[in-house]
Amino acid sequence: MATFTERWRELHWDDIALRINSKTAADVERALNARRVTREDMLALLSPAAATYLEPMAQKAQLLTRQRFGNTVNFYVPLYLSNLCANDCTYCGFSMSNRLKRKTLNDEEIERECAAIRNLGFTHLLLVTGEHQSKVGMDYFRRHLPAIRRQFSSLQMEVQPLSQADYAELRGLGLDGVMVYQETYHEATYARHHLRGQKQDFFWRLETPDRLGRAGIDKIGLGALIGLSDNWRVDCYMVVEHLLWLQQQYWQSRFSISFPRLRPCAGGIEPASLMDERQLVQVICAFRLLAPEVELSLSTRESPRFRDSVVPLAINQVSAWSRTQPGGYADSHSELEQFSPHDNRTPEQVARALAQAGLQPVWKDWDGWLGRAAQPR
Ligand code: SF4
Repeated sequence: MATFTERWRELHWDDIALRINSKTAADVERALNARRVTREDMLALLSPAAATYLEPMAQKAQLLTRQRFGNTVNFYVPLYLSNLCANDCTYCGFSMSNRLKRKTLNDEEIERECAAIRNLGFTHLLLVTGEHQSKVGMDYFRRHLPAIRRQFSSLQMEVQPLSQADYAELRGLGLDGVMVYQETYHEATYARHHLRGQKQDFFWRLETPDRLGRAGIDKIGLGALIGLSDNWRVDCYMVVEHLLWLQQQYWQSRFSISFPRLRPCAGGIEPASLMDERQLVQVICAFRLLAPEVELSLSTRESPRFRDSVVPLAINQVSAWSRTQPGGYADSHSELEQFSPHDNRTPEQVARALAQAGLQPVWKDWDGWLGRAAQPR
């Protein structure tokens, strides 16, 4: 059965970079006026030529977002279950070579975290772990997922890539969505930044969303770590290709796109290509023009000022008060954290800022009983 790898092999990094750089103002205007944005249009919207069209791009993106999602923004929160990791990624504080106090939550600690999170008002939860197959693998998930699921209206995960059979089993335990970021679609750059562990396998990761789609997972999250490769425009275009491929193959799943930019962390690296805030707005708006139905997500990696200005344009899912260390909601010990969040406002403060912009915060995602999770595949 075909996977995205086949499509990826047809895409040539330098050729895409050239095509993006050759786009003109006329190409951008054509893309802006298109009823349906094509791949060529996306190359134009991601190009330097689109920088001077930020205002019309934002206006159209905002219109499409309101048409599709109304005046609502979904809230979610990450729960870090463990910072154990068997990989070595040059950009991450959880890397196995980092001298860091390691922690995996037990039953009681998970219960305390869940209670603290529910007290904050969230019912849409993202479980996050480092990638440690033996200590935080399927046995751990089987043991803990059902009890966590019962306390929240929807459950997503950001953990090591698993097999299709494992995803199908987790779906049966109540898993609604999985976020799996390719980090970079440039194979040689990927190899330079993933030095040990299973994550070195570029294609196992690249094909993870295919396995998710085949396992019938309701929501699949994609993204590139912006700044890891030396050309963020090409990496963003690769996300476009990945999304279009998956939408065509697994049309019963929903998709979400995130836009993480490299943030400082213990032992971290400098970005190889810098994306400034205007360029991030350009990319977010371009994705909204391409896919009005897709969820666009913005995390607390970005500053409060930036989030307040861009969320009303095209974002429909945000995190708030994210603690990026295991046990961070019930206790506070920042020495365990994966990266330092930039927006440290409380959920109420973020909700108030959204309300001032005329948006209604929604503290949950779709309920399973509305039909999605129950559908047989
Ligand atoms: S990015 Fe993920 S896999 Fe890599 S070190 Fe961090 S937690 Fe582990």
